[in-house]
Amino acid sequence: MTTRRTTFIPYRPRTVLNKHKRADHWFWTRYSAYPYIGCQHGCEFCYCREQKYSPYDDPHDFAHVIKVKENAPELLRRALKNAPLDPIFTGDYQPLERKFEISRRMLEVCHEMGFPVFVLERNPGILRDLDLLKAIHERSRAVVAFSIITTPDSQEYDRVCQMEHLAPPAAKRFAAMEKIAAAGIPVGVCMMPILPGLCDDEANFDAVARWTAGHGGSFVLASGLTLSDQQKEFFFTVLRERFPDLLGLYQRLYPPHSYGPADGSGRTLALRAREACARYGIRDRMPRPIVPGEKRALNKRVVERLAEKLHEMELNNEADHLLWKYRKAAWAVEDMEEEIGLLYRTMGLKGLQAIPDLGPGLGTEIAAWIDANSKPA
Ligand code: SF4
Repeated sequence: MTTRRTTFIPYRPRTVLNKHKRADHWFWTRYSAYPYIGCQHGCEFCYCREQKYSPYDDPHDFAHVIKVKENAPELLRRALKNAPLDPIFTGDYQPLERKFEISRRMLEVCHEMGFPVFVLERNPGILRDLDLLKAIHERSRAVVAFSIITTPDSQEYDRVCQMEHLAPPAAKRFAAMEKIAAAGIPVGVCMMPILPGLCDDEANFDAVARWTAGHGGSFVLASGLTLSDQQKEFFFTVLRERFPDLLGLYQRLYPPHSYGPADGSGRTLALRAREACARYGIRDRMPRPIVPGEKRALNKRVVERLAEKLHEMELNNEADHLLWKYRKAAWAVEDMEEEIGLLYRTMGLKGLQAIPDLGPGLGTEIAAWIDANSKPA
């Protein structure tokens, strides 16, 4: 573990907003915009050290040489001018945010322009901007998730803490979660990355779900560890030097050229998350933030429903062609310009069945869902 001084490098990038064709089915974000490159929390398992995300030749620099996008708020305002209203993945409350306040200014732009936001955070420093997040949620919706992979109840808690020793402890993140929930903002946990041999046991999933529910959280999203290029070398060096008993396990799970765990454990982990969440009355999916009064709100709810069904089918290990059927249907509804409720009212079931990639079966399923979820006139 290093105690290097941190260097800040202010610079003026040409763009700040990453745009995707449509919202993803996990965080529901279509855009991302980040104020900094590098992270003072320096979690040793962090995928952001990979070459495709990090401009550093030496992965050790990631936690100690932070690039500050000083013109990010202005760039964001310009980029959002004609962009469709969809959620933005933004915010970063590593310690330097107290000095530069770029996350806050970016959130102010989102609020001013009426965009929903999703913030994923490891630092309770986010509470400084609770007033703003609340205002965004009231106008256009906000969702917050804390990155938490274990709790003080775990036997491996101390070892996980050593791997994220520059970040505030999990108990402080849970305490912050409670305040965000009390402000009426949907909040939960991203249990990412689940570290093999440290966080992947059922007792840990149970404890994370219990702590989340006990602090006002409403969801736990879970996903495994990925390791690639220089980050893989970096993390294997950490294991070799400080956790040698784990090295063999990780070398087996992440052989050369393998990015995800070679034992295909993703589905098992997702099932553990689902079961643990169910025990405490919370969900293993995040609610989709949709701007109140949005014209295509029903389209987005239908997509959310299709994506939930797709997730269930993945957990049930259903055939690929069935998964693709739901995935393509979700994309088709997401891409529709017209309002799906209006189409159904004017054209009836045939109108839904004529949507590309839906066909008679899914058209009928969506019609039944719309009927069941329509408010009485
Ligand atoms: S807080 Fe997140 S971005 Fe920062 S080092 Fe840890 S995992 Fe990476």
